[in-house]
Amino acid sequence: MARAVSPSVFVVEERRDWQVTAPHLAPHRQDREPWGTHHVKLEGSLVTACGQSAIAWPVFWGRPFDATAKGACPRCAHVLRLAHAPQRRFSA
Ligand SMILES: [Zn+2]
Repeated sequence: MARAVSPSVFVVEERRDWQVTAPHLAPHRQDREPWGTHHVKLEGSLVTACGQSAIAWPVFWGRPFDATAKGACPRCAHVLRLAHAPQRRFSA
């Protein structure tokens, strides 16, 4: 049984997308690269998927988040896996 959610709210949620973000840019690089641990956040959000404040953190547009890469935040990877898991239905 589907939850009673407004159709417009559902559509907004569906359109939101994940972006890679990190506290710092890698120094001395031509390309923009994250430096240290990199996280994901929803577009327009000020908080990462793992709950850290990402205000003023650079965003790496179009960069895929590789959960197996060195420096990938394991908590953000876990949230992404849950978000992209097949929908489960719960009977009420
Ligand atoms: Zn994270």
